[in-house]
Amino acid sequence: MNTSDFRSVYRPKKFSEAIGNKWSIQTLKNIVISNRIPNGILFHGHPGTGKSCLSYVFVKALNCLNFKEDVCDVCKNCLLMEKYYPHGSWLADFHDCTIMKEDHLEYLIKNHFTAFPQNRPDKNIHVFDEFQRTRSSFQEKLLRQLDTNPNLLLIFLLIDASHVEDAFRQRVLVLKTERPEIQEVIPWLRRICDSEQIAVKDVRALKELAITAGLLPRECLSLLQKVSYMDNILTTDLVKEAARDYRSTTKETPSYVFSEE
Ligand SMILES: [Zn+2]
Repeated sequence: MNTSDFRSVYRPKKFSEAIGNKWSIQTLKNIVISNRIPNGILFHGHPGTGKSCLSYVFVKALNCLNFKEDVCDVCKNCLLMEKYYPHGSWLADFHDCTIMKEDHLEYLIKNHFTAFPQNRPDKNIHVFDEFQRTRSSFQEKLLRQLDTNPNLLLIFLLIDASHVEDAFRQRVLVLKTERPEIQEVIPWLRRICDSEQIAVKDVRALKELAITAGLLPRECLSLLQKVSYMDNILTTDLVKEAARDYRSTTKETPSYVFSEE
């Protein structure tokens, strides 16, 4: 994909490129290394904290032909995952629960989730994004599948884990995604500025940007891109200018973020 969209260029393509979520990443790596793959994994967390990115890299890792500590990013499966981002070609089946009908779930169940050709012989991988949009009958059907079909890996993404029943949560591995620390965001932003040839006037500008974006990596990228259109020097004033109509559109930046000096 040829794009200059920062959100796409700088999204993590490997575990080592992700910032924050250290323990979730370690857990996912251990699963791949040990090849002890659970039937169900549920990622939950505020929008922008990395649920989609982490689950995508995890699916890539499960299909990577040379996985060591991280995906190789050069084998045919890694290349396929990148080529068909965000759907991963036939290496996994990605479902958007905002538009998925229960009929389609019935169809998947009837076909033992193998309707979509998959790469791993031992696991049919299905990812359900926006899982909070499903009804309890939908969740119950999937819960039954987790209990009866050992060849499944179902990955669920949702904002708040309380949207699913306790029985469901107890049946799957639950991983919470969180905002990275500001100490992680700043060097990451600095590297991006370097590669985009954006001069950083002083570290306060990076801090201002990180805080304005609520420490959410993809929001940081959007804001940085906006600044980059205005000038190739990053200053606090420019960040404030770029953020003028930004805060009103970004909801829910936690207050603790702003209290940091
Ligand atoms: Zn690979």
